Amino acid sequence: MASIVLDGIEKVYPDGTEAVRGIDLTIQSGEFMVLVGPSGCGKSTVLRMIAGLEATTGGRILVGDRDVTRAAPRDRDVAMVFQNYALYPHMTVRDNLGFSLRVRRMPKAERAERVSAAADMLGLSELLDRRPAQLSGGQRQRVAMGRAIVRQPTAFLMDEPLSNLDAKLRVSMRSELTNLHSRLGVTTVYVTHDQVEAMTLGQRVAVLDDGRVQQVANPQELFRAPANLFVATFIGSPAMNVAMATVTGGMVRFGQFALPLDDAQRRVLEGRQKVVVGIRPESFGDAVETGPGATLDVEVGALELLGTETHVFFGVDEPPVPQAHDAQGGEDSPLAPSTGGSRFVARLHSQAQPRIGDRLTLAVDTAHLHFFDDVTGVSLTR
Ligand code: ADP
Repeated sequence: MASIVLDGIEKVYPDGTEAVRGIDLTIQSGEFMVLVGPSGCGKSTVLRMIAGLEATTGGRILVGDRDVTRAAPRDRDVAMVFQNYALYPHMTVRDNLGFSLRVRRMPKAERAERVSAAADMLGLSELLDRRPAQLSGGQRQRVAMGRAIVRQPTAFLMDEPLSNLDAKLRVSMRSELTNLHSRLGVTTVYVTHDQVEAMTLGQRVAVLDDGRVQQVANPQELFRAPANLFVATFIGSPAMNVAMATVTGGMVRFGQFALPLDDAQRRVLEGRQKVVVGIRPESFGDAVETGPGATLDVEVGALELLGTETHVFFGVDEPPVPQAHDAQGGEDSPLAPSTGGSRFVARLHSQAQPRIGDRLTLAVDTAHLHFFDDVTGVSLTR
């Protein structure tokens, strides 16, 4: 086990693409750190630089106390688990597991011992004589994990290892990975674009965008106190609703709506006229149930009935905020409004049974409003 320190690492590819623009990040010894961000944000490049598969163009990488920035991959004592498993198709599970040890000329008895221990741990003991083609997706994934485990590395590096599995298997493999990590306690850096995976697996999560770290925190903190608009709208599902707003007369006004501010919020927003307001879908309720308090009168534009909860979409007469991450898929989404305004979503209990076109009074938990600088997107309420 060892810590991993990224000290101002940068990557400019030969064609001039600036994939990583100066990342400082310390992964503690034994920690499970997730790197999450949209496609193209640079997370795989960071992982490949730690593995030594990609040279850095700036900064340093330390594993333990050792500067490995220029070390060859095999001299870094880290094991990578790939998205496509990279198993040898003509070898049995046993030989796939033991291959890297054989290359290192480990004595046969010790090799067999390590392979059998890893197979036990991963429930592969019955499958040692099969070839990859005779395994299910989940079993192949376990073999890929096993190949990393037998090496007893100081760190695991995982690049979207679950992305080729179906949704149900992905969920069960997530808890297997968590169990495995708590048993082995090996420092792990895990890359994914899936924020749910990031939040369920990571002890801490680093959110990346555009080659930079936007925030590093534990999952609760990321959700509760996002550092900026990007993190606020990337973490959480459905995503946080955001709109350009004005602050006047103790109220925050956006589109056709206005909500009252409490004393603390007025102090934070003092001297500002424009801000971005953020409301989590969970901060809405059915006003009939919640009693007195701040409300919005909305027209139900679209609905998603999920059984356990109902998502109510409504229009806000305000163009979308440019710095926000658009989790709903932009203008092509069936839920996008046609009017040039934006859409908000409220997450209600399934007892609420509105219909499209209904007028609905939504209660708003104004104590949990978020506010962001209208130019930089930095949180004002954190
Ligand atoms: P992610 O893993 O977050 O999807 P990547 O690290 O794969 O992102 O890529 C980051 C950026 O670098 C992207 O813009 C991608 O197109 C670019 N990139 C990745 N590999 C190369 C390469 N070999 N040459 C040039 N650009 C690359």
